[in-house]
Amino acid sequence: MKPSYERPLIQKLNAGLLNKFGSRTEYTPVKQIDGISVNDLMDRYGSPLFVISETTIRRTYQRALKAFKVRYPKVQFAWSYKTNYLDAVCKIFHQEGSWAEVVSRFEYDKAIRNGVPGNLIIFNGPDKIKEDLKTAVVNRSLIHIDHFDELYTLIEMLDGTSDKARVAIRVNMDTGIYPQWDRFGFNYESGQAWNAIMKIAAQQNLELEGLHCHIGTYMLTASAYAVAARKMCELAQATAEKAGIRIKYLDMGGGFCSSNTLKGSYLQGADVIPNFDDYADAIVNTILNFGFKPEELPLLILETGRALIDDAGYLLGSVLATKHLANGRRATVLDVGVNILFTSFWYNHRVSPAQDFTQHAEEMALYGPLCMNIDCIRESVSLPLLKKGDRVVIHEVGAYNMTQWMQFITLRPKVVMIDTTGKVHVIRNNETVETILQNESVPDHLKTIPL
Ligand SMILES: *Cc1c(COP(=O)(O)O)cnc(C)c1O
Repeated sequence: MKPSYERPLIQKLNAGLLNKFGSRTEYTPVKQIDGISVNDLMDRYGSPLFVISETTIRRTYQRALKAFKVRYPKVQFAWSYKTNYLDAVCKIFHQEGSWAEVVSRFEYDKAIRNGVPGNLIIFNGPDKIKEDLKTAVVNRSLIHIDHFDELYTLIEMLDGTSDKARVAIRVNMDTGIYPQWDRFGFNYESGQAWNAIMKIAAQQNLELEGLHCHIGTYMLTASAYAVAARKMCELAQATAEKAGIRIKYLDMGGGFCSSNTLKGSYLQGADVIPNFDDYADAIVNTILNFGFKPEELPLLILETGRALIDDAGYLLGSVLATKHLANGRRATVLDVGVNILFTSFWYNHRVSPAQDFTQHAEEMALYGPLCMNIDCIRESVSLPLLKKGDRVVIHEVGAYNMTQWMQFITLRPKVVMIDTTGKVHVIRNNETVETILQNESVPDHLKTIPL
């Protein structure tokens, strides 16, 4: 086959520029967030401190929505609660028009308490017990069935009633990305997904409304979504032809990259990841070209998480100490550890000093405050000289840290939000010894100790 012409493309690469000291420090001082002084925030609310920018959340959300809306007439976002389920954060997304996407009863209840109408909650995940399914049926929520046992529980529960459940199935498939995520939902290639569809179609109490997939996370190739969208369309078409059921929505899940840099990546994340337009093109072009009649185009649902919130989150911290390791390398100990920065296990988070510095830089390891060897934020980073008491800003921490953080060795800090007018609000208070002790109890015979 004759190779087709491809127009030349020039792309600016910012990574790896050298300065006269060798590899450049990635950094300029960051003294403000949304116009609010970093020093003032830390003086007032303590260190460490999570800061969330409402302006950035809204801006990123609108950019993502627009990328899809200009290409496709029916688009709906559903906020992935597990990515960041602080109520204030969820409410911003709901104000912007997002439904809720939850993967546990805890998250489901949080969405209800946040005022999300039950019929706008997507209930995903492998862990929905009978009670949860009952609540979801009563509230007309969208139940995304994960496995046959869940399907059978639902069928048995509804048997003999006039209740109807609104359901979809989660589909997993080969999209050319390995390892394949095949532990959630029903497999496409093996025929399992089709089998589930036919079992649902045969039930009077089940209304099959949609098809769902979530092919992975931090997906570096947009084309995987084109493969996924094609397989979803094929299932939808077969469902219409063979079962006479028109699929109302295709939920393409999440997985879009934030601009964080993955560990081991040579280039900065922002230089290599697809953007919202790339993802939107891959998904929308596939659906539009598939052959649905315009009036029968399915609603396109997206559950993108990290790409919408990572850049709105900052973690402020202080230098506790600097020291030399046995081999002479510099080590800087921060009050921010992996207990609150879970994502440092897979990202090289950008770290900026919060004060002016000279042109000198040194290579160093950044450690957290935990008395645990694994507590390392950056194994190797070139930063200006830091001393005890200096402050740093860690970037793009909005996704997964405020849900996966752990209360290990020490307590979790405050989270504040800077609203669009520059006002600062505490949206989650720091934990105290009382927070932890309120759930503990000591048997009578251990109440006193003879020391
Ligand atoms: C976690 C999750 C998401 C969000 O994933 P991101 O990679 O953060 O975009 C969306 N849908 C489902 C079902 C999930 O489990």
